[in-house]
Amino acid sequence: MRKTLPKSVVIGGRRIKVVWKKMTDCWGEYSHDSRSIVLSTRLQGPEKNKAAWETLIHECFHACIAMAGLDHVLGDDTEEAVVRCLEHLFLPAIEDLNPPKGYTNGIEKKAGKGKSKK
Ligand SMILES: [Zn+2]
Repeated sequence: MRKTLPKSVVIGGRRIKVVWKKMTDCWGEYSHDSRSIVLSTRLQGPEKNKAAWETLIHECFHACIAMAGLDHVLGDDTEEAVVRCLEHLFLPAIEDLNPPKGYTNGIEKKAGKGKSKK
């Protein structure tokens, strides 16, 4: 597992900031207006790294849903159920499959050193 969380993530070609904030009512949230994922400072610290990553990924799914416009049709409860399905069922399956990097572009990145000559 990566040691530190990123300061941003690119979803759908858009850079989403990852910021920390004191939050007492939840662990994280995605704001489509500010294009940011806010994580609770309660998740900071090496012992909470796994929970911080889980929350970041959870909020990335919310960002995907918002960018697709699905948040307008799903409703909060259904959206949360979809996010948890992806988080707890789909993601572990993908992690287990470990597909080659770049498979979503139809381009399999070559293993090895050096850059592509394109
Ligand atoms: Zn959620």
